Amino acid sequence: MSPAAEAKTSHGAASAGLWQIAVGDELLEGRTVDSNSRRVQRALGGGLRARGIQVVPDRPAEIVAALDRTAPGGLVVVTGGLGSTPDDRTREAVAQWASVPLPENAGLRAELEERAHRRGLRAKAVFAALASQAQVPAGLTPLRNPVGSAPGLVGELRGRLLVVLPGVPAELEGLLPGVIAWLRERVALPVDSPVELWRTAQRGELAVVASCAPVRERHPELAWSWWLSRWGVDVRIAAPGATSGGPAPGHLAAAAAELAPLLDPVSYGRDAAVELPAAVHARLQRRGATVGVAESCTGGLLAATLTDTPGASRSFRGAIVSYADDVKVSQLAVAGELLRRHGAVSGPVAEAMATGVQERLGVDYALAVTGIAGPDGGTDAKPVGTTWIGLATPSAVWTRRYRFPADRERNRDLAVAAALDTLRRALDDADPSALWLAGDSWAASDPSGGGR
Ligand code: ATP
Repeated sequence: MSPAAEAKTSHGAASAGLWQIAVGDELLEGRTVDSNSRRVQRALGGGLRARGIQVVPDRPAEIVAALDRTAPGGLVVVTGGLGSTPDDRTREAVAQWASVPLPENAGLRAELEERAHRRGLRAKAVFAALASQAQVPAGLTPLRNPVGSAPGLVGELRGRLLVVLPGVPAELEGLLPGVIAWLRERVALPVDSPVELWRTAQRGELAVVASCAPVRERHPELAWSWWLSRWGVDVRIAAPGATSGGPAPGHLAAAAAELAPLLDPVSYGRDAAVELPAAVHARLQRRGATVGVAESCTGGLLAATLTDTPGASRSFRGAIVSYADDVKVSQLAVAGELLRRHGAVSGPVAEAMATGVQERLGVDYALAVTGIAGPDGGTDAKPVGTTWIGLATPSAVWTRRYRFPADRERNRDLAVAAALDTLRRALDDADPSALWLAGDSWAASDPSGGGR
């Protein structure tokens, strides 16, 4: 048996499971939420279920105690505390836990110093701090960090496969491909159970769960879950243990076929990696079409969200943020009479904003958002959360009133999601009656225009 194969069998498929430890005082003080554990799980492919995620302070004794709680044969991933400041104690804790020395790695030190020189750093204190970053517990190997200075550390200690990564998310992400390659040489990473996924928008969680109910009742053998995303709700059904006595993959396919007519119309995609703005851009780009937006209550958030997607410039032309009424008049040619008669948060104004920006920016599709995000500004007739969304297409203009149920931040997010998904539906289906469907949670039932 080759050494690589021996190494693979000695750990089985990381038979004692995955153990994650997130180190950092800021995680316990609520200043930062641990999102690194999710990043690590995603990179691992989702087939290795975490036995536990421990969040511990930057104190060696607590890090050691957390390492003690992991099981031999496991894959242990520690994130955070690898920097060069005095509160970064993870290296020291790992060496203490494994009872191994913590020598300086001369090659690593030279690399870190050269990098500091290249960045124009000269201060003595910086170079002194680098010395601690060059310490590597005996038995671990540094993995070069393509993004920041702190290297990752990988190796086998006390019968565990140990991976130690910096806490800064971008640095961690930069190291993950190298970590996965290293792991694959040692263990057969289990594959995730087969999964069917629908990503939906414009419906609340309970409404989505209700639409799945008939199929769920017929397929209780599958694992059903509903996850909130920034845009709406993701529906995920899995066939756990399909390879070891669980439901046959055929059950999953059958359930998916039954679910498709219910979820396809409200779904912007089936791929966990494709977010709603990217889904909108892909559709626009397939048509060679452009989009522009006119924003009031979202204050540029819709435009910022559209530009989060790399390559957005091929379909997004720009935005007019018209927060004040006179800006709506001067920049979007909204008639002052409409504002006086209906108010800024109204269907006619949303329509005029959409057509105004369509014309000013010369785009094929235009979205407009005008609403009362809260906490103040609501009235009996137009309570907080009331928002009009307008959509101008090459052939028609549509408006819809929404009543979002949350606070300012979430209401603005929901408005952005609803606007993007309305455009997505228009691009998917030329039939305008599919822009708003029965069961959409926040769309009110006012007539929605359609003429010019
Ligand atoms: P450095 O000290 O060089 O910045 P490090 O490896 O020591 O890197 P930490 O000091 O623990 O990392 O964390 C740096 C920053 O990274 C934190 O202030 C926090 O913003 C972020 N961070 C750390 N751990 C996590 C985590 N588990 N999830 C999300 N962000 C994190």
